[in-house]
Amino acid sequence: MTVSLDLADHAARDALAMQARARHREKQSLIGLSRADMAEALVAAGVPERQVRMRVQQLWHWLYVRGVSDFADMLNISRDLRTTLAERFTAARPEIVEEQISNDGTRKWLFRFPARGAGRPVEIETVYIPEEGRGTLCISSQVGCTLTCSFCHTGTQKLVRNLTAEEILAQLLTARDRLGDFPDRDTPAGAIVPAEGRKVSNIVMMGMGEPLYNFEEVKKALLIAADGDGLSLSKRRITLSTSGVVPGISRTGEEIGVMLAISLHAVRDDLRDLLVPINKKYPLNELLAACRAYPGLSNARRITFEYVMLKDVNDSLTDAKELVRLLKGIPAKINLIPFNPWPGTNYQCSDWETIEKFADTINSAGYASPIRTPRGRDILAACGQLKSESERLKKTERLALEAMMIAGHGEA
Ligand code: SAH
Ligand code: SF4
Repeated sequence: MTVSLDLADHAARDALAMQARARHREKQSLIGLSRADMAEALVAAGVPERQVRMRVQQLWHWLYVRGVSDFADMLNISRDLRTTLAERFTAARPEIVEEQISNDGTRKWLFRFPARGAGRPVEIETVYIPEEGRGTLCISSQVGCTLTCSFCHTGTQKLVRNLTAEEILAQLLTARDRLGDFPDRDTPAGAIVPAEGRKVSNIVMMGMGEPLYNFEEVKKALLIAADGDGLSLSKRRITLSTSGVVPGISRTGEEIGVMLAISLHAVRDDLRDLLVPINKKYPLNELLAACRAYPGLSNARRITFEYVMLKDVNDSLTDAKELVRLLKGIPAKINLIPFNPWPGTNYQCSDWETIEKFADTINSAGYASPIRTPRGRDILAACGQLKSESERLKKTERLALEAMMIAGHGEA
């Protein structure tokens, strides 16, 4: 059963909404600024040069270790400076429009971010997937996507805009608030804290959008997420997934240094052109050459190749053998993703038996090939099912989708 909370605690919801509304446009958020940019902002606000380094350190600790979003709570900073900071800056969280909890513990949030420039406020989705011994947060990088992969729900939504580094990090910070995952801080009112297990131990840039088409902001956000004096996520626990924006691949390795996942999905250019149309620009041979040259690649740091299982489209044993041939020499993991259906799609998920045979072929060639268990399908939180509030499902569409799942299409 799906529990749709709509933030059960109304007081907490109102407080968050008020906080979000109270963000004046002219107030700059300190979230997402590099240390150098934060220092510059503090100098502009009148903080004496000789204090700036220490102030940045203090703020960094409050924002990213303690998870504090209100300057008034930053107690080792003088009252006067706290007042100045609050007048000029903000660290407020975005508005949570909805929080849903699946019967398997997966959570999905719909966040609303304020308008930028002449645009309108935007809404995006973030998903939390608890697993044995770890918790993974699936973060969005764009509102919609410029690419149009034919099996992806996000791909049916035009790009509205890129998210800023602040908005990318806000997904992580707010998810941790709601999971009670800032151990040194009181859990915010209304947060629903899982009974056990690690909370956010890993992040994957696998939500809405193509992260390498928003490179600079994604880079800023991930470097802050990996900063050892702040959020401290190991770069080995951060994965960036790309549909194959070749020029961004080496830059990801050199400038960010996180783990790489490639949405491969087909082993022939003619089919990949249809499934992942960016293949027309960067065909398989170029994509795989960029993977072979990925900085830091080793058997201990493998590339994950994602492969969505589409019935009678890309799931034959010939495809499996070709996949093994193509990846020869690349330290790789292959992640088989059962296709997750969405209203209006013409694809179906491969039969379970076919997926297992496909996996066997790959395993016997020496590759780990876990089959990704679909999570949170009941709240439309599974891979490729995300879409914004602006285009959320009508009730009739939701019922049609539920009927599809009950009929077994796409059910692993
Ligand atoms: N734009 C990036 C990251 C977001 S998509 C990319 O394409 O890699 C995250 C993963 O989900 C990708 O591998 C994507 O191809 C896959 N995916 C998209 N739609 C899906 C669907 N309906 N079912 C299963 N996986 C899907
Ligand atoms: Fe965009 Fe990735 Fe979906 Fe393709 S699979 S449309 S790149 S979000």
